[in-house]
Amino acid sequence: MALGSASTPKPGRKSRVTQAGVRELVREVRTCRLCEAHLPEGPRPVLQVDPRARVLIAGQAPGRRVHASGVPFQDPSGDRLRDWMGVTSEAFYDPKRVAFLPMGFCYPGTGRSGDLPPRPECAETWRARLLESLPNLSLTLVIGQYAQRYHLGERAGKNLTETVRSWRRYAPDLLPLPHPSPRNLLWLRRNPWFEQRVLPALRTRLRELGMHDSHGTPPEGP
Ligand code: SF4
Repeated sequence: MALGSASTPKPGRKSRVTQAGVRELVREVRTCRLCEAHLPEGPRPVLQVDPRARVLIAGQAPGRRVHASGVPFQDPSGDRLRDWMGVTSEAFYDPKRVAFLPMGFCYPGTGRSGDLPPRPECAETWRARLLESLPNLSLTLVIGQYAQRYHLGERAGKNLTETVRSWRRYAPDLLPLPHPSPRNLLWLRRNPWFEQRVLPALRTRLRELGMHDSHGTPPEGP
């Protein structure tokens, strides 16, 4: 089943958003030190926002490697996510096509069982304003439980597997995904329906949105 056709942004949203305004907002985020005391390697917000973007990747928080490079998903998780999407690195990092807003913009540190949760202050402070800066979105990939709680709210299932299994409920604008981390290989093996049914629908939807177009030209926005 395909995810459906492009949705229409809400009237009036587009007119309030300007490139200059978005650039200024992103500059503000990049100087944020709000939760510095909790960040073992200090603030380094990693995000990509352009009002022309059609696809939003709503992830968790940068890991250590992404913190070092400053490039979203430039790590094994990103390799798997690009494979799931069936897109080139060029398309993936084209700001006219893809925006990146993790739930926490800075690396939160590592605990006993992996990276710590995204800092909650981050979404509370920045997320609503940044989402307003993306009036042309047609698809949000909602990756992992933190992003799913925020973007799906009460519509989320009781756990990640149930939410992802119910992916058709959220189409065509939202698609919940598990985190593409190598830590989730066991989940992928236990849930073969994900690769058999969800990924083909994801690729079909991305093709509709010009993400598989080598010329880098997304279809005209509504
Ligand atoms: S995680 Fe978010 S709130 Fe904390 S310093 Fe980074 S940008 Fe600011």
